[in-house]
Amino acid sequence: MYLYQGQNLIAFADCFKLDENCKEYLVHMKWLEGYECLRCGNKIYQTRSIFSSVCNKCSYIESVTANTLFHKVKFGIRKAFFICFEMSTTTKSLSANYMAQRCGVTEKTARFFMHKVREYQ
Ligand SMILES: [Zn+2]
Repeated sequence: MYLYQGQNLIAFADCFKLDENCKEYLVHMKWLEGYECLRCGNKIYQTRSIFSSVCNKCSYIESVTANTLFHKVKFGIRKAFFICFEMSTTTKSLSANYMAQRCGVTEKTARFFMHKVREYQ
């Protein structure tokens, strides 16, 4: 499994240039090491599109972000990745206001997502 572990911001930005790069990373993390249907637990699936799969047994369609930290993120998965990167690579406490300015989201959005990240860990 390819697990991103670097702390270099430039390398991170190069690796995740587009939302699609982030979703491709999630595909690797979520399905290529072993798929399991969220509804029935079946382990065989077909690819529905680049970023969604269909269970061979119950036909449940699952997006790559389903059941992840990035589920229903409306402000762009790339910005969410950058918030996670910032949160995981600093030893300082980060304010929602600071993160909002850094990633181009509202303070409310930053606060909500940062809370979600903290709850997820
Ligand atoms: Zn299923």
